[in-house]
Amino acid sequence: MSNTATPSTREIPITAADLPLHCPGDDDKLWASHPRVFLAIDETPGAIATCPYCGARYRMSAGD
Ligand SMILES: [Zn+2]
Repeated sequence: MSNTATPSTREIPITAADLPLHCPGDDDKLWASHPRVFLAIDETPGAIATCPYCGARYRMSAGD
């Protein structure tokens, strides 16, 4: 019982401080098994970028 969440539709909140956005992120480990890639995302809150490798969705938050 280690994976109850849907692995391909996870949404990761980020802020402008996380730019340039790359996947896997610094906090991601085993589930991300692809070379690090940089993703283009707008700095507008609510903007979404999807990783073409693992399908992770990054959503721009309004920051602090
Ligand atoms: Zn990825």
